[in-house]
Amino acid sequence: MKVMVLGGGGREHAVVHAFSKSKITSELHCCPGNPGIAKLAQCHAGDPCDPQAMKTLCEKLGIELVFVGPEAPLVAGTADALREAGILVMGPGASGARLEGSKAFSKQFMKRHGVPTSDFDLCTNLEECKAALAKRSAPFVVKADGLAAGKGAFLPESYDEAVATCRMMLEEQKLGTAGNLIVVEDYVQGMEMTVLAITDGETVRILPSSQDHKRALDGDKGNNTGGMGAYSPVPWVDDAFMKKVTDEVLTPTVDGLKAEKIPFCGVIYAGIMIKPDGSLSVLEYNVRLGDPETQVVLPAFGGDFGEVILACAKGELADIPWPGAKLVALGVVMASGGYPDTFEKGCPISGADEEIENTFVYHAGTKLNDRGELVTNGGRVLTVVGLADDLPTARERAYSRVKKISFEKAHYRNDIGDKSLKR
Ligand code: ATP
Repeated sequence: MKVMVLGGGGREHAVVHAFSKSKITSELHCCPGNPGIAKLAQCHAGDPCDPQAMKTLCEKLGIELVFVGPEAPLVAGTADALREAGILVMGPGASGARLEGSKAFSKQFMKRHGVPTSDFDLCTNLEECKAALAKRSAPFVVKADGLAAGKGAFLPESYDEAVATCRMMLEEQKLGTAGNLIVVEDYVQGMEMTVLAITDGETVRILPSSQDHKRALDGDKGNNTGGMGAYSPVPWVDDAFMKKVTDEVLTPTVDGLKAEKIPFCGVIYAGIMIKPDGSLSVLEYNVRLGDPETQVVLPAFGGDFGEVILACAKGELADIPWPGAKLVALGVVMASGGYPDTFEKGCPISGADEEIENTFVYHAGTKLNDRGELVTNGGRVLTVVGLADDLPTARERAYSRVKKISFEKAHYRNDIGDKSLKR
């Protein structure tokens, strides 16, 4: 069938790669794509956040199945417009995407449906913020309600800093309308982990476990980033833990969506804190796959991803045998020097094109310049993945591939996977 993937980052490159190997795919398209994706799919210019433009493009191409990668098009209602045109879609409509698009909605939803999460207050002015903060002690947790490209959550160390953060959003409008409503919530201590699942609104299935590395530098030092590397599956995540997450988080979430008559076919990404006593607290929902987690979860996945997504989009997920993880994948993000702060663009990249067995190079911040050369075009440039039967070999393959790629001031972490390897 004719498949379209919306988006143009490393996550979408991995999704396109998985569809390119699927027996359901006869023709593969992507909008807008990137130079790596262009080797596997026909790329089309356009804005995935423009629902009508996406509907027109997909109708023109005769697309039968669409996979929406990023959150912004989901929140904008692109999946709704495509479904109205009779196209199968993986990704929730705007009402379901509020689980990610509004932190106030998601916290209230969790409370309504008994999904464990920390206590919170919603504030629309500085006086309400001060009252909510005065009830709590440091470290404080202050979040903008709306989408802020991962930059809307703050953990201020003092009351004064917390008030200044609220003022910055409410009065100085530094995050635009996303910061017009503030969530002040209890700080939760523990070990953070992400669970990725897919649902057709009835059945929910957990994808292989993965661990991201958020900080820019080795040893979890430096600034927070979009993610500097990941591996899948995580050896210490067992079936008992996944069952606990299913029973306490995923099933009540899907049941809650049903009870509220919110149709939801897509990804549920739960950011979970495991407290020292072993109990769970959900920090956030996302309604799309993670980046760079996808770049390792999909290669590790044992089944035909396209077949699974097609079944999900048709509401037939229960009928698909679930293979879980078959291999181990480890991905290292190669970023532009300076990322996540200021960095240069336009540096020529060499060594990324070669085909080397059991390694993949997923593109994100890349483009072809006027002379057709591959150059850097963003903070996170490539995710370099090694695939193997075990984690040390996957790691070795990923890093030896990284060493064959170069661009000026390339930066990557040297300790991806160490948390499990040194455990
Ligand atoms: P992103 O989309 O990049 O994950 P976000 O802006 O949606 O971020 P959250 O995921 O809610 O925001 O929070 C970002 C990070 O802040 C979390 O990954 C976690 O490390 C920390 N955090 C959030 N809420 C809490 C909390 N209640 N207690 C302790 N830490 C928290």
